[in-house]
Amino acid sequence: MEKYLSQLNEAQYEPTVQVDGPMIIIAGAGSGKTRVLTYRIAYLMSKGVDSFNILALTFTNKAAKEMKGRIADIVGDGEAKNLWMGTFHSVFAKILRFEGHHLGFPSNFTIYDTQDSQKLLGSIIKEMGLEKDIYKTKQVYSRISSYKNNLVTVKAYFKNPDLIEADTAARRPRMGEIYKNYVDRCFKAGAMDFDDLLLRTNELLTRFPNVLAQYQNKFRYILVDEYQDTNHSQYLIVRALSDRFQNICVVGDDAQSIYAFRGANINNILNFQKDYDDVKVYRLEQNYRSTKNIVGAANSVIEHNKTKLDKIVWTANTEGEKVKVNRSLTDGDEGRFVASTIMENKMNHQLPNSDFAVLYRTNAQSRAIEDALRKRDIPYQIYGGLSFYQRKEIKDVTAYLRLILNPADEEALKRIINYPARGIGQTTIDRLVVAANGFGKTIFEVLQHIDEVDININKGTKNKLRDFTTLIESYQVMNQTANAFELTEHVTKSSGLIREVNKDGTPEGQVRLENVEELLNGIKDFVEGQIEIADAGDSLGEFLEDVALATDLDGDKGDPNHVAMMTIHLAKGLEFSHVFVVGMEEDLFPSAMSMNTRSELEEERRLFYVALTRAENQAYLTYTLSRYRWGKLIDAEPSRFIEEIDDQFVDIITPINDPRQNPMLSADIFGDIEPNQIRFKKPIRRKSESNKPPKFVAPKNLKLVSKSSPPDKTNLFDGTLTVGNIVEHSRFGKGEVLKIEGKGADVKAEINFEVGGIKKLLLRFAKLDVL
Ligand code: ATP
Ligand code: MG
Repeated sequence: MEKYLSQLNEAQYEPTVQVDGPMIIIAGAGSGKTRVLTYRIAYLMSKGVDSFNILALTFTNKAAKEMKGRIADIVGDGEAKNLWMGTFHSVFAKILRFEGHHLGFPSNFTIYDTQDSQKLLGSIIKEMGLEKDIYKTKQVYSRISSYKNNLVTVKAYFKNPDLIEADTAARRPRMGEIYKNYVDRCFKAGAMDFDDLLLRTNELLTRFPNVLAQYQNKFRYILVDEYQDTNHSQYLIVRALSDRFQNICVVGDDAQSIYAFRGANINNILNFQKDYDDVKVYRLEQNYRSTKNIVGAANSVIEHNKTKLDKIVWTANTEGEKVKVNRSLTDGDEGRFVASTIMENKMNHQLPNSDFAVLYRTNAQSRAIEDALRKRDIPYQIYGGLSFYQRKEIKDVTAYLRLILNPADEEALKRIINYPARGIGQTTIDRLVVAANGFGKTIFEVLQHIDEVDININKGTKNKLRDFTTLIESYQVMNQTANAFELTEHVTKSSGLIREVNKDGTPEGQVRLENVEELLNGIKDFVEGQIEIADAGDSLGEFLEDVALATDLDGDKGDPNHVAMMTIHLAKGLEFSHVFVVGMEEDLFPSAMSMNTRSELEEERRLFYVALTRAENQAYLTYTLSRYRWGKLIDAEPSRFIEEIDDQFVDIITPINDPRQNPMLSADIFGDIEPNQIRFKKPIRRKSESNKPPKFVAPKNLKLVSKSSPPDKTNLFDGTLTVGNIVEHSRFGKGEVLKIEGKGADVKAEINFEVGGIKKLLLRFAKLDVL
């Protein structure tokens, strides 16, 4: 341990060896907060603290895994295994498996992911006969999520005139009823959504003092990374669990609080000293991650925020190169700049792909970058897109498994009752739902008594329903003896799923088939890993829990030597040698949606601070003069954040073929040719906002009429499909609309799907959901 302690500076050493009592480390990016947390855990263990008594909460499961690995290096594998480490969601899901029965949940409860929750809300809104353009599932979902994260239960909602008034003002007076129905339905289905994992934990710890005492006793030492982004619900859990021993160590940086839009409460970090007695406060000031230029640039940006704790961040690292700012003509050019710069750096400095990261404000920006990287054969991985487990064919398989384990799971049942097709139509399913609600039973229970219940379903259909029920019951029997792998393999074959997946024999079908095989491999690994640890126990249940809680960063597969692409939100806590922050434009970053109040703008600025401080050696900021957004080519203006960086840390590089000098040049002329680089002075931006036309934010489904562009939109089916829309296809999964062409019944859309790439689909037949 001594060897490791010597790898800390004095300011880091002190909190690392401070064993007891409440403490907070507030420090800027790259100053070693996460390192201190990691070493501190190892130190506690070396001082005789039982590893079973330590709880560490991290931002991603990947971060927890890395931390555990590091600790295992120091104290040995065996001991590190007993640590409770993970995200709030994964840790408390585990506790709820043991304790959920107090709240009336089965130990095999299902975890509904966002997709499941939104589907359920969609059907509730439909059943209630509400207008779906007003009660948009996504908005309703995020509204309910915010109630839950603020611990507003259904009962509390109906007692809160402010909330009711706010929802009524937003033309959704029946939100409360939807909320109630949603909670009831989840409960009946034995399901918890992501927010429930925290809300129900709070309920458990509040209503059952003996349960609270048990876990207070277990988790005698609690450590929380990225504390600035905890929400109210998480705050209360930490507070309750640490109340007895008060051995709580939180680390964070108020300047990196970037989840307020999802309910994170920066006051949790600001008020920590009031919450506990004799809090020790530590500050770390030396940054070990980045060059002087990057640290200087980041400091000068965050200076512009009014609400902040005063902090010093400095570094003894080399000066490095200045932050480079690049202007392009179009987003295509921007992508080419990124790709050619990566190539250049790789060649000149022998850097691996994994030294590079491309960060963006919104997922939609990734396509242009991807295209350019692909053309240059640069391997990349997008984090946080559609995760493996959210792909349609994978969700279909796991829906079978979920239903086997928890027959009350309504969303799983609805997903597969007619998949592969068994001649059970939507009308029948609707009737089953109504009947189940009427009887206060689950749909599966209704199915099990289909001959006795009097519902309007004909004999032929009843036979089909009976066959389905028998099939699922046979799987349940098999689950008593077989392991998760044997069961899943059997299910995929005997249900006809495998056949269905590759029915059309297309390359996409082949990809889907390979995905299912990949899932089977994953389950096999999981089962084998489990047998190694102890007796297998409930392998299927545990596997499904891992699947449900796989976070956006966890899907790291294949060759690790790739360029990482992700939103800035996801990049928190990570570091890369070379970082590109693309789309540095007004209305995109800062986002047009976040410019109404100072606090929103300050959150955007913190986000930019996070982005810059991910870079170790070099940061590039890129912006373009025009960009396709909402199906329309719009003029773009450089982000105010570029200007906010102190001049001494910035270097403006811009293609020599600048349109302001030669307006005849069009984006296409550049093609793949690498633009020559020339140094320019900083771009001059109009300071006065008054001569700007008012900003207009297009709502997603608004029809945009563009004079210059070809038919970029269609309103063939409900809503309007526009170029740039993200859609979901029943077979190809999610995709982005690239082009729309043709007229009337022949309207076709060219869509770039996650699975299978670009496809042209006749909209008359394509079953698309606009997301
Ligand atoms: P962030 O705010 O971005 O989460 P952080 O404060 O958690 O950053 P770390 O990730 O712990 O910072 O550390 C940043 C980098 O500096 C890491 O690569 C870490 O290994 C390294 N580092 C931290 N402390 C030291 C030290 N005393 N000596 C050498 N390297 C260090
Ligand atoms: Mg960190």
